[in-house]
Amino acid sequence: MNVCEPGQDRNVAALSIMFMCGGFLNYMEVYEKYMKEAIREAELAALEDEVPIGCIVVKNGEIIARAHNQRDKTNNPLGHAETLAIKKASEVLGDWQLVNCDLYVTIEPCLMCAGAIIQSRINKVVYGAPDLKGGAFGSSINVLEASNINHRPEIVSGVLADECAKIIKDYFKSKRS
Ligand SMILES: [Zn+2]
Repeated sequence: MNVCEPGQDRNVAALSIMFMCGGFLNYMEVYEKYMKEAIREAELAALEDEVPIGCIVVKNGEIIARAHNQRDKTNNPLGHAETLAIKKASEVLGDWQLVNCDLYVTIEPCLMCAGAIIQSRINKVVYGAPDLKGGAFGSSINVLEASNINHRPEIVSGVLADECAKIIKDYFKSKRS
C-alpha cells in the first residue's frame, strides 16, 4: 500500500493546476484562432461599406460557413452576419438543427440573432466585443434569462474584444470624417 507523502499531494495539486491552465490556454488559442477568421469577415464587410461584423460557424474543428453583415447592400433587415452564417451552415449540413456547431461573431449578437441562435440549436456562441445598446446575451438584455426557453447555448464573451471593437470604431470614425 502506498502512503502519500505530504509533498505528493502538493505535486498532484500542482499538476492539476497546470492541467487546468493548459486546458484553459488551449481553449483560448482555439477561440482566438476562429475569432480571427470572424474578424476577416468583418473586414470584408467594411470594404463593402457595411457595418463591419463578421461571423463563422465551426463544426468538429472545420469552418462550415462564413458571412458578414450585408444589411445595407441587400436592403435586408435580417441580413446580419449571424443569420446569414446560420442559413449557410444549415444548407451545408442539410439540417436546420446545427447540433455541435459553434458560432463565432465579432460583436455580441442582437435580439434577432440571439433568437436565430436559439432556434438553430447552436451549441456555443463565442463573441468578441460586447454591444451595450443591443447585445442580447447580457449587455443590453439577456435572452437566456427567459424561463422555459428550450435551448441554452454556452456563451463565451470577450475573445479578442479590443480588436473586434476597433474595427467598428474605425468604421464609424471614417463615416464621420
Ligand atoms: Zn443581429
